[in-house]
Amino acid sequence: MGRALNRSLWEDTSPPAVPRPPLDGDLDVDVAIVGAGFTGLWTAYYLARAEPGLRIAVCEAEAAGFGASGRNGGWCSALFPKSSASLAAFSNRDGALSQHRAMRESVHEVAQVVGEEGIDAHFARGGTISLARNPAQLARARAEVEEARSWGRDDDDFRLLDAADAREVLDASSVLGGTYTPDCAAIHPLRLARGLADAVVRLGVQLFEQTPVLSIGPGRLVTPDGVVRADTVVRATEGYTVTIPGLQRRLVPIYSLVIATEPLDPGLWDRIGLRRRETFTDQRHLLIYGQRTADDRIVFGGRGAPYHFGSRIGPGFDRDERVFARLRDALVELLPALAGTRITHTWGGCLGVPRDWCASVGLDRGRGQAWAGGYVGDGVSTTNLAGRTLRDLILERDTDLVRLPWVGHHSPRWEPEPLRWLGVNAGLRAMAVADLEERLTSRPSRVARLVAPFVS
Ligand SMILES: Cc1cc2nc3c(=O)[nH]c(=O)nc-3n(C[C@H](O)[C@H](O)[C@H](O)COP(=O)(O)OP(=O)(O)OC[C@H]3O[C@@H](n4cnc5c(N)ncnc54)[C@H](O)[C@@H]3O)c2cc1C
Repeated sequence: MGRALNRSLWEDTSPPAVPRPPLDGDLDVDVAIVGAGFTGLWTAYYLARAEPGLRIAVCEAEAAGFGASGRNGGWCSALFPKSSASLAAFSNRDGALSQHRAMRESVHEVAQVVGEEGIDAHFARGGTISLARNPAQLARARAEVEEARSWGRDDDDFRLLDAADAREVLDASSVLGGTYTPDCAAIHPLRLARGLADAVVRLGVQLFEQTPVLSIGPGRLVTPDGVVRADTVVRATEGYTVTIPGLQRRLVPIYSLVIATEPLDPGLWDRIGLRRRETFTDQRHLLIYGQRTADDRIVFGGRGAPYHFGSRIGPGFDRDERVFARLRDALVELLPALAGTRITHTWGGCLGVPRDWCASVGLDRGRGQAWAGGYVGDGVSTTNLAGRTLRDLILERDTDLVRLPWVGHHSPRWEPEPLRWLGVNAGLRAMAVADLEERLTSRPSRVARLVAPFVS
């Protein structure tokens, strides 16, 4: 592996951020938001646009975009972590369909705001290709398309590709076919987060950086240098929620790690494809995800880093040389033409996983407490939907958004340790075993079938 920098590619290719001062003294506002990732920023953005006189404060422990929002794989997609069938099970068919429609619209909405606010987030709406690279993966691709059809989703939404069409998009090894959806854009996530932070400040939102919230109570946030009183407080802390007193078992922080290559020669790109900057993955169980960046590199990430006992998080867990090496091997196995390509950046971050894998958004009006999160790995556009939904809930607007099935959904709490550690790591291990089983047998994995009810 080439020289591994400790900074993400996104940091190295963003204009430098000017730090904003911390909160210094007590403050009274209408809405106080904890966390300046996409959830907190979209919420502030839509509230400030809807009611310009509203007093809004955002308290961020580090800097805007410090968390997953500034580090992710940059898929702005219509993916939602819970399947339509599972959503319908706790709402109904129409509810599940509305959620899917709202997710598709969110990709357009992000594009719209990026344009209106002049945010140079390298947005390219090329869609997503998911390759099938062994017979078991091809069977899964076919089943996914059939399932989509049963929900009325047509070719314009999600379609099967034969081997030649799939290779035309991405000429990877062992391609037997794949699926394609147009509902995804490749973005530069840190540029989007910082651009949004600038936009909310322009709209009059008070954004305090280096301001950790020590406790969240009804109508009240406590920080080291002041108390913020508000009619409504919004928790937008995703993978970091575990650090807030009383919320340790709400979301499990799972680490996802990422590598970036040097810029590739045009000749190499002619062979590989991704001409419209399509985001890419394959049908394996232990997720991988990639994008062609605006400066012609490949950013490639995946799960597989272990869960840490007690839901511990820390900067040390952003790096795991074994996982980086496995990612590089997986990338070269997928695209053998990259065998001599340098890896210039390696980084990682934590995302938030609820016990039932269902993201949710809600407001407890009586206590003046709102939340959104649990996006697993699908937060880039889901946070946008969360921000618009929180706007409508807080401003008591009766819209279609507040009737979507994820609104007010309460996921069960995770088990206490050591069960949590055993269960989460066994699940991660099972995914890797299932991929190996499918490569060796060419049949859909039995291990995966056992684990599937817990992750769909
Ligand atoms: C490596 C990686 C790759 C991913 N790839 C994709 C992808 O390609 N597509 C996709 O859709 N999703 C992806 N995700 C998930 C996506 O990035 C997240 O779901 C999304 O960014 C969550 O946004 P958020 O604002 O809720 O949380 P975050 O961005 O994590 O923001 C939370 C913020 O809260 C702050 N905070 C926490 N506790 C406190 C406190 N007590 N006081 C004050 N501030 C606090 C943190 O510092 C942080 O800035 C990925 C995630 C990771 C880690």
